[in-house]
Amino acid sequence: ECLPYYAEGTVVTGFGRGSKELGIPTANFAEDVVKKLPENFHCGVYFGWAKIKSNGNVFKMTMSIGWNHYYHNQVKTMETHILHTFDEDFYGDHLKIIVLGYIRAMLNFNSLDDLIAAIKNDIAESDKKLEQPEFKKFKDDLFFKEPT
Ligand code: ADP
Ligand code: MG
Repeated sequence: ECLPYYAEGTVVTGFGRGSKELGIPTANFAEDVVKKLPENFHCGVYFGWAKIKSNGNVFKMTMSIGWNHYYHNQVKTMETHILHTFDEDFYGDHLKIIVLGYIRAMLNFNSLDDLIAAIKNDIAESDKKLEQPEFKKFKDDLFFKEPT
């Protein structure tokens, strides 16, 4: 339906959900990027490819789209975890993503351990899916070669 979905914009500070403390940092997109999402784009966890302007490589990613509880579920967020270990944070950088597939709906977990296990599973699933030729080919998409 909406996939593949191309998005790009600035990485902003999130809501201090402490993703980094869990070992799973998520780069949050600025509000203007979130606002462009089609109405029928379902909340949940997705996989695809990502590139930041300050780094020449295209990396695998796992992304979530959800409603932020802190803002009484009025504010949607798009958070991208890139499957790469960076030396430094990249707040303010320009992030490009191509969203290719849906993994699961957003769930309420009973414990932090359950949440972390689910995210690790999402990352493994993304890693595997992106090796499939139908998804792998998007790594070389022109979108990632265009200057921003
Ligand atoms: P915030 O609540 O500000 O989003 P996080 O704990 O989610 O804080 O950390 C996100 C930040 O971590 C990103 O904006 C980025 O600058 C940095 N970062 C470092 N490595 C990664 C990565 N592999 N994937 C996503 N963000 C990363
Ligand atoms: Mg975050």
